[in-house]
Amino acid sequence: MGLLSLGTPLPWHEAQKYSDDVRRQGVAQFLEIWRRQRGRRGDALLWGDEIEYMVVKYDHAQRRVRLSLRAAKTLEALQTIELDAIDRGATPAASWKPEFGRYMLEATPGTPYGPRVADLLAVEENMRSRRRLAAAHLGADEALMALTNFPLLGTYDSLAQATPRAAWLTVEESFFLPDDAITGHARFPTLAKNIRERRTGKVAINVPVFHDTHTPRPWREPCPPSLGMLDAPRRAQALHMPLCALLPDALEDHIYMDAMCFGMGCSCLQVTFQADGIDEARKLYDQLAVLTPVFLALSAAAPIFRGYLADVDCRWDVISASVDDRTPYERGQASAAATSATAATTPANGERDYFDAAYNDLPLTVDPAIEATLRDAGVDLWLARHVAHLFIRDPLVVFHELLDQDPATSSDHFENIQSTNWQTMRFKPPPPHMPDVGWRVEFRSMEIQLTEFENAAFAVFLVLVARMLAAFDVNLYLPLSRVDQNLARAQRRDALSQETFWCRQRILPHHGNRQPGYAALSIDTIINGASHVAARRRAREPPSAAGAAGSAVDSAADSAAADAAAAAVPPFPGLVPLVNTFLDTLSLAPAARARLDRYLHLVSARASGALPTNAAWIRAFVRRHPQYAGDSRVPEAVAHDLCCAMQACVDRGDPTLSDMPLAAVAANTDRVVMPLATAPPTSGPPSSAVPPL
Ligand code: ADP
Ligand code: MG
Ligand code: MG
Ligand code: MG
Ligand code: MG
Repeated sequence: MGLLSLGTPLPWHEAQKYSDDVRRQGVAQFLEIWRRQRGRRGDALLWGDEIEYMVVKYDHAQRRVRLSLRAAKTLEALQTIELDAIDRGATPAASWKPEFGRYMLEATPGTPYGPRVADLLAVEENMRSRRRLAAAHLGADEALMALTNFPLLGTYDSLAQATPRAAWLTVEESFFLPDDAITGHARFPTLAKNIRERRTGKVAINVPVFHDTHTPRPWREPCPPSLGMLDAPRRAQALHMPLCALLPDALEDHIYMDAMCFGMGCSCLQVTFQADGIDEARKLYDQLAVLTPVFLALSAAAPIFRGYLADVDCRWDVISASVDDRTPYERGQASAAATSATAATTPANGERDYFDAAYNDLPLTVDPAIEATLRDAGVDLWLARHVAHLFIRDPLVVFHELLDQDPATSSDHFENIQSTNWQTMRFKPPPPHMPDVGWRVEFRSMEIQLTEFENAAFAVFLVLVARMLAAFDVNLYLPLSRVDQNLARAQRRDALSQETFWCRQRILPHHGNRQPGYAALSIDTIINGASHVAARRRAREPPSAAGAAGSAVDSAADSAAADAAAAAVPPFPGLVPLVNTFLDTLSLAPAARARLDRYLHLVSARASGALPTNAAWIRAFVRRHPQYAGDSRVPEAVAHDLCCAMQACVDRGDPTLSDMPLAAVAANTDRVVMPLATAPPTSGPPSSAVPPL
């Protein structure tokens, strides 16, 4: 949506001068859309997924794997095919877009899916056809992988075809990644550079390291040889120092990253839904927002950052920190804009509207002038606040040629601000230049899965959940402070088995779902339902590895269940059983139902711990590898073997990673004694000996 419009991007000191102007026009554009389109109704449920891939290049002789910057060439070839189809008046099989990393490709279906069950059944094959298309344009020894994060990104020499080190330092000024990592399209480097300039320093991303058996405490990463920007004498000295002593932003016991690419260079799975009209879109936005942490935990796939095992399983906080453009003042204290508590009156709720002002219980920073403008124009309080919150941001990428826009035909300024607000949900108004496209919401929290089966399963399950919520008039609303807590918990290591998540106790109308009341439930209970979880326990299934580890949570769920029983709360029904009941109402042909059942089974088995997440599988693979020293560091050869193992799973057409027998990997590793880690220097020259960089 205009994000990739070409032009001359302004450097930050210039762009800054136009911030107010862009915001003013952006709000006018939003208002224009709202005025023209708020009465729009009757749009079909169209929907589509977005998959982000990475291209890797193998050197099997050296047991190395690196990211391939040739992905940009592959992208050009794929976009040419797409445009040729459009020119012929045909619908292309897939639509291709650049992403932040030059080693990435984004693919969506060539045209959105519709509301039929047949559309659900077409998703997996459509995803496979995208992979086949791309695979035909890869170079020698290259492979297309759907990895949430490339495990070696930012380790020494992690990019094939990178330019010499001298050319590293203008855009990101990273110690670990050359600027070549970023797609050359003006928008991306400008974004990185202007974020850095606005915050007056590089981004600082610190992910807790996973303390393995041989990881020293405290863990201080030795200075990596990639700190190539230091001159020779300082470098010799620096190499004796831990990173956290050398760089003030690098924290002890954390994996430190210093560039936007570490977050924006991750891949995810997104799903966009078109709603019937603005009201349905708002309701869907609210209800699905509650589910974003649950789907994040279920799809967890990122346990390694910059070559180290992390104590988290997901990318989300890394993305947030990678695009943190706040000035030192804004980081240190509340922003200059007003922070409003939300004690305002709500318009009378419609019969089926479960929204309550009390759910907006987080202090929300808004631009008060923009809120006033929107309110004066007749926008209701909550939509006005939503937009006034987005608009506390400065536009980061301003194109000189696009400064003045006609709000009747363009929404570029609105989209500019909107697209640099990275949230788990996005509310997408109809673009003025695309009359067929209505009000949409985008679900953005999921991590990309390795296989088409998994990605299709999550996308399809989400669509079924959205339809089920509407069909059964489900109320998922939670106070936002609890959604935020859930998002933090979702990313923790083994969150599925170890964490509980706030959930509304009564979600169905006949359970009295207007009554308040929240419980901390395991994902197993949220997905599979309290009765199923209890029945499974009664049947004393032999516990799976993850299931055994999950007993703490299960007993938490038990006591929640006991409390609930005391208060006569009905057992939590579970999203999968509800979706099954919904599917029962559709009287599907057995073959169609069987296909969908496989997707539901995947989600259900992840939730119960019967199948590991990609993150758990990757972590286990590394820890069992004979060349892993138990010290959190993932050597190149291990990353190579990891990618090969995952690649083999895709090539064989396995539905999920867990079909790869982990035992086979482990078999020959049990005898291998892990060597002691080479301890990083814990003492060296005092940190004052080398000035901070
Ligand atoms: P963005 O990157 O801004 O989220 P993309 O164009 O990359 O947008 O992807 C949007 C997704 O929305 C695609 O899967 C596309 O198929 C889908 N889509 C396109 N038009 C509609 C529509 N009218 N309603 C719902 N989804 C749509
Ligand atoms: Mg996209
Ligand atoms: Mg994308
Ligand atoms: Mg992206
Ligand atoms: Mg998107």
